[in-house]
Amino acid sequence: MRRPFIAGNWKMNLNRAEAVALAEGLKQAAAAVDYADIAVCPSFVYIDAVAQALKGSNVGVGAQDCYFEGNGAFTGEVSVEMLKDIGCTYVILGHSERRHIIGESSELTNKKLKAVLAAGLIPILCIGEMLEQREAGATDDVNAEQFFGSLAGLTSDDMKKVVIAYEPVWAIGTGKVATPEQAQEVHAKVRQLIEFRFGKDVADAVRIQYGGSMKPGNAAELLAQADIDGGLIGGAALKVDSFMGIIEAAKTTEL
Ligand code: PEP
Repeated sequence: MRRPFIAGNWKMNLNRAEAVALAEGLKQAAAAVDYADIAVCPSFVYIDAVAQALKGSNVGVGAQDCYFEGNGAFTGEVSVEMLKDIGCTYVILGHSERRHIIGESSELTNKKLKAVLAAGLIPILCIGEMLEQREAGATDDVNAEQFFGSLAGLTSDDMKKVVIAYEPVWAIGTGKVATPEQAQEVHAKVRQLIEFRFGKDVADAVRIQYGGSMKPGNAAELLAQADIDGGLIGGAALKVDSFMGIIEAAKTTEL
């Protein structure tokens, strides 16, 4: 049985006061949640303030990216050590907005992922196909390339600590959600990839989140699927009520 994990990706949204208010609201609203892991991932500049606001709560804090080198001459970058220092437990890596807007490769994501693991933090690795790739029948190939490329060189012990987020790019921020069947089909294939590369024990343990327009109204059906172990939430994570609606949907599902 895998414990559900619901994480909010706040992306480049909110100002300091809004980020802290959202964190404080969540701290209260989620205080009684004992059936799922919860995290929020603010912009770098508000992680510190949000981590302070969430101190003593059951809501963890993550970053949306990092650099793979240790502290040093890397202008504009943020190291994993810095993230750890300000209270991060998680780091989202390989988000489609980084792959497709910033141009990050699976090779770069792999370096970052290894740095995150080496620091004892938990990577949330995003993979997912674009609409034209799905329509061309390339969904499995795209996800396999991102999977093997981003996870190259990991041991089975490393892999047990990784969270995967399957995020079909065409469903992110579009309101176009994958059907539970479409999502489950890919999640099952991703779990097969984990088994092929790292063995059955690891495949049974790794949590695979779904991401892409998950909302309180569609979360229960998605989370009820056998291989969907949680969600990575964008838009609906920006309000206490909608994020809590998704967290509560995880209670009623057998994951
Ligand atoms: C995301 O940012 O990873 C995401 C899934 O966004 P949304 O929920 O808004 O589609």
